[in-house]
Amino acid sequence: SIKEKGRAEYAFYHTQMSVDLAARNRLDADMEKALEQKEFFLVYQPQLSLKTGKLIGCEALIRWQHPTRGLISPAEFIPVAERTGFINSLGPWILDEACRQVKAWNDELSASIRVAVNISPIQFQRRDLLNSIKVVLEKNTFPPSQLELEMTETLMMTDTERVLLIIQELQELGMQISIDDFGTGYSSLAYLRKFDANVLKIDRAFVNDMVTNINDRAIISAIINMANSLEYQVIAEGVETTEQYVLLKELGCHAIQGYWFSTPLPPDDFIRFYNQHTQNLNKQTANH
Ligand code: C2E
Ligand code: MG
Ligand code: MG
Ligand code: MG
Repeated sequence: SIKEKGRAEYAFYHTQMSVDLAARNRLDADMEKALEQKEFFLVYQPQLSLKTGKLIGCEALIRWQHPTRGLISPAEFIPVAERTGFINSLGPWILDEACRQVKAWNDELSASIRVAVNISPIQFQRRDLLNSIKVVLEKNTFPPSQLELEMTETLMMTDTERVLLIIQELQELGMQISIDDFGTGYSSLAYLRKFDANVLKIDRAFVNDMVTNINDRAIISAIINMANSLEYQVIAEGVETTEQYVLLKELGCHAIQGYWFSTPLPPDDFIRFYNQHTQNLNKQTANH
């Protein structure tokens, strides 16, 4: 009967939920040790300028090599870390690690690579965020303009005034501020009225279907035009095909990030990729 089926489904979902819950509890217990045992690491996804063809920067993305579960996605463990507050230990580690990498690349490469770091809204609840960023920068000594901080729209939902002041101060120190996953929040436009970012990152949900879906293409085109008027840079995320690349270039998008150009890379692979790309680009310009 329907009733029995309902009960069976309830029991199924109930069991499934308990399993998920147990898994999450284990995850948050494991996280504390994971930092000490150096199970976290960062990979860097290259960003391509559609104006110059140069590799202009990258986004640092965290990975967790769990001893028994293997590689765990940040989409799975960052929300757990945010709920438990562990993000307040992990966040500073991420920032420190990314800045150490910028400094190392500055010493190794002739060009300076801009690195974008994701900042969780939870980190903004801490009074010492600004100071901890200053400390990391002082320790690693590189131009603050090489550091970009990615925020999501949810950040502005509480404590707006305080958050705005912090962001302003970060920009005065020379850091770039970007709005991540732009267009997916429910207040994207209201957000832009209040807050002066440097970079808009178009969420890959729009990029995904832009070749076949004229609505998505119109939205992307509008975001690019708006960003130009507001003097923001626009980076399209999740570019996977040549068609998307061509279309975004035609629409005047500044830069792209996605598997089409490169997946996120460990530091050594990143350097190799950078050198290869730069060499190819120089050859092309020499041939013209
Ligand atoms: P995000 O900041 O929007 O990062 C972009 C995500 O898209 C990354 O997933 C990246 O690997 C993936 N991606 C890049 N190009 C493509 C593509 O062409 N196709 C597809 N399908 N995906 C692509 P990842 O690394 O799994 O990270 C997921 C989310 O976890 C991030 O989304 C961000 O919200 C969060 N996250 C990752 N690293 C950190 C971190 O260090 N700190 C914080 N607070 N959050 C992080
Ligand atoms: Mg991001
Ligand atoms: Mg994003
Ligand atoms: Mg995201």
